[in-house]
Amino acid sequence: MSAQQPYSFFHSVERSFDKAAKFTHWDLGILEQIKACNSVYQMRFPVKRDDGSIEVIEAYRVQHSHHKTPCKGGIRFSDEVNQDEVMALASLMTYKCAIVNVPFGGGKGGIKINPRKYSVYELEKITRRYTSELVKKNFIGPGIDVPAPDYGTGSREMAWIVDTYSSLKPGEIDSAGCVTGKPLTQGGVRGRTEATGMGVFFGIREVCNMPEVMAKQGLSLGIEGKTIVVQGLGNVGYHCAKFFREHGAIVVGLAEYEGAIYNANGLNEEEVVQHRKATGSILNFPGATNLAKNTDALELQCDILIPAALENVINGENAPRVKAKIIGEAANGPCTPEADDVFAQKGILCVPDMYLNAGGVTVSYFEWLKNLSHVRYGRMEKRFTENMNTHILSQMEELSSKKVSEKERTFIMHGPEEVDLVHSGLEETMISATREIMQIWQDNPEIPDMRTAAYVSAINKVANSYAELGIFP
Ligand code: NAD
Repeated sequence: MSAQQPYSFFHSVERSFDKAAKFTHWDLGILEQIKACNSVYQMRFPVKRDDGSIEVIEAYRVQHSHHKTPCKGGIRFSDEVNQDEVMALASLMTYKCAIVNVPFGGGKGGIKINPRKYSVYELEKITRRYTSELVKKNFIGPGIDVPAPDYGTGSREMAWIVDTYSSLKPGEIDSAGCVTGKPLTQGGVRGRTEATGMGVFFGIREVCNMPEVMAKQGLSLGIEGKTIVVQGLGNVGYHCAKFFREHGAIVVGLAEYEGAIYNANGLNEEEVVQHRKATGSILNFPGATNLAKNTDALELQCDILIPAALENVINGENAPRVKAKIIGEAANGPCTPEADDVFAQKGILCVPDMYLNAGGVTVSYFEWLKNLSHVRYGRMEKRFTENMNTHILSQMEELSSKKVSEKERTFIMHGPEEVDLVHSGLEETMISATREIMQIWQDNPEIPDMRTAAYVSAINKVANSYAELGIFP
């Protein structure tokens, strides 16, 4: 909490929930049940540092909802981790999964450490110990609770988790499904690494393809030529910048925690990452201008602003200076409810986190299904589809007495690889969710913003699943 943020992150999620609940017909008790965090596990465990000292580590796992099991949600390594934050993020996971029709309850984990201050060996010990604490309390498992990467973690940590879990549960045939975001060799799925950034791109592209929405924002249709600013060049931010640039948008600004850079002619995220690796900073990138503060990037003139770092970065204080016409919330909770009020007054369209960054959990769902089925996507149908396509094509060529070009032939005959199926499943999910939320908003003009429409969608889906169980008459 701070002067700009007078209440906690969890409270701000509750406020957004309450704002939307008014547009649903559910009983107050049902709404209270949906909002509550079902289980909170707070733990402390000792770790021996490389210098021989003992440090007590603070960590959490929260299961927000069990209306569907397993629970699902990332594990965050950050100095800022606290119980309130993990509860807020777990709640967002419940709503996110509901919106994109992924059959999980929301969960989230956090370890209060700055990973940059620990050696790889220390991080491995912390991750493995955290996993064994979760096993002891039955807080992890393919049918119980399935973590994934989040801020400060990646496939390396997920590999340590699956290895620890499997060694504690020998013979459990589905143990690979205890965590997602794993490396391919440990049961991961192709397409998971880029999934969240790609999902953000698909969601914003769909919004940009809606003529009435673009007319309202005073923007032309489509992604091409749109100016983009991205805050945070980690997994999500990097892939967002990449997909927007590859589809003709111009990434004019990038921000990292050490500073921000601007170039009206466009920045290439890969070159900036290489420059950062070489110099230790994104600043002084050739051809770009350094901004005075990293937060200045949020106030740059652009069509689409993508906060992809941490929560509460756009609040009542700086929201009036935001000049973007669309905000794509790639991070979880980057805009506070006060910022939402400012956006509503200024006509800025904020595309909300709880569905926009659902690409990660959607592909995590695909990974989990792959682990339970023990077969790679495409293995059964790739060759069959290619043979069938070859046959159809040769029949058509024979009947029409025309030959297609080699390029077209390769494209038509191609049977789906795992990555093709994952990307197309993700695209379908993001397009459907965008349309569903926009429809809810259009059907009820009283709904003030897209976030509220997204919450209405989530509340109705979770409440319906309780109602179908007969828990709520
Ligand atoms: P990450 O650790 O890979 O990257 C985050 C980046 O933000 C880092 O490079 C960090 O240095 C930078 N950063 C930190 N503070 C900053 C600041 N003040 N200004 C500019 N940059 C700053 O994390 P990630 O996985 O990319 O996650 C980013 C956000 O996306 C988080 O809110 C996370 O919860 C959310 N998210 C991630 C996923 C996923 O699949 N990884 C899925 C859904 C949501």
